[in-house]
Amino acid sequence: MDGELCFDAGSLEAASTDFGGLVRQPPAAVLRPGSAEDVAAMVRHCRARGMKVAGRGQGHSTNGQAQVASGLVVDLGTLDSVEIRDDDTAVVQSGVRWSTLVRASLARGLTPPAFTDYLELSIGGTLSAGGLGGQIGHHGTQVDNVIELQVVTGEGELTTCSPTVRPDLFRAVLGGLGQCAIITRATLALVPAPRSVRLYTLAAPSLAALTAQQARLIREGRFDYLVGQAHTPSPEGWSYMIEAAAYDGTAADDARLTGDLDHTAVEVQDLPYFDFLNRIAPMVEVFESMGEWRRPHPWFDSLLPASAVNSVVSETLATLKGGSIGASAVVLLYPVLTAKCATPLPVMPDEELAYLFSLLKTASPGADSAEEMVAANRRQYDATLAVGGRWYPIGSVPLTTDDWVRHFGSFWDEFKAARHRYDPDGILTPGQRVF
Ligand SMILES: Cc1cc2nc3c(=O)[nH]c(=O)nc-3n(C[C@H](O)[C@H](O)[C@H](O)COP(=O)(O)OP(=O)(O)OC[C@H]3O[C@@H](n4cnc5c(N)ncnc54)[C@H](O)[C@@H]3O)c2cc1C
Repeated sequence: MDGELCFDAGSLEAASTDFGGLVRQPPAAVLRPGSAEDVAAMVRHCRARGMKVAGRGQGHSTNGQAQVASGLVVDLGTLDSVEIRDDDTAVVQSGVRWSTLVRASLARGLTPPAFTDYLELSIGGTLSAGGLGGQIGHHGTQVDNVIELQVVTGEGELTTCSPTVRPDLFRAVLGGLGQCAIITRATLALVPAPRSVRLYTLAAPSLAALTAQQARLIREGRFDYLVGQAHTPSPEGWSYMIEAAAYDGTAADDARLTGDLDHTAVEVQDLPYFDFLNRIAPMVEVFESMGEWRRPHPWFDSLLPASAVNSVVSETLATLKGGSIGASAVVLLYPVLTAKCATPLPVMPDEELAYLFSLLKTASPGADSAEEMVAANRRQYDATLAVGGRWYPIGSVPLTTDDWVRHFGSFWDEFKAARHRYDPDGILTPGQRVF
């Protein structure tokens, strides 16, 4: 063994919780692997004894997804090597955080093309979910930018997969919630990095104005990055904000980029590229100092078809009283061009344009309780499905196996076949509760 197997109370406690703070399941042991071979050997060991196993990146799940009651948690943080290659690719072990990868690639003038909002998530963690962000209109999700994976299957086999080598495994692992293999290494595409970013924050006069303009802008590809938010209600009601960024943009671009947009106010900032990517870090520090970061986070994330976004979002927001979803709650509305998302997972609505609609809740004092929030998430999930929407499966929604079958839709048969082929004893990642 190159790494270590830990049984101490501190290691077990750390692996029995997550960012969500809703589920607590102590494992029997925690592996801090020194190599991918360690992971393979321990998966074989556990399989022979009927023990369950899950990989853990940064533990930023919200519903126990990386936990294994009385099983083995593989803390992938020790698989932390990064290599930036001359062919504009990065070869990274799965425990590396995106912040570490982008710092290394920027030293060579390169960057991964697609990011999540928060950079302190692991490569393996976001590739197991999908990885959606503001660059999706040009580059798809993070899983769309993976060239090759090294994985350990549920049989304990260390192998590689790609679009041409074991493509069934590749398709089932990317966005595959750890159900078929543990990712130990990824080869990722890199692109030339901008030096600076001109970021426009535009106040939209209404929800309809926000979604209509996002639709137009993402189809035109006018900005390099495009997202949006609804802000918690004031006496005047909810307010809406578009964030749009031009890489290496200057003041000379302002009129062309924003002159015809319907907005009531605009703020413009020039940021170094890394600071732009990392701009929620100061907000996280504030939430940490408020104690909000350690409170329960019953998150809900969905992908709504464009045809239903205004009705579902307005009906949902109308039910949320000020503060009911927490002192640090954030409501996201990101446009998604589904054709840019070429991998089968994460599952997308069946329309050319969709919106990520996320209710990032915190059970703060005075807000709804965590249990009430989880129950509301289930109702929101049903309302989402009823209009052809999909769950983005990173949050806290109680689902049955039948729900999962419906969630995966036409990909279910292929996904189930991959699970049976690569994890025949069903030992991997029970915290997702898919099988
Ligand atoms: C503050 C914050 C901001 C976020 N912003 C975004 C965003 O903008 N866009 C977005 O798409 N998501 C976002 N997320 C969600 C995030 O991408 C997922 O929850 C992701 O899975 C978390 O990564 P992690 O390293 O913490 O994974 P963990 O929580 O450790 O694990 C998540 C799941 O993946 C499995 N897993 C972990 N590593 C591996 C591996 N190497 N191989 C196989 N399975 C593995 C685990 O077993 C578990 O089931 C955000 C989450 C937080 C907390």
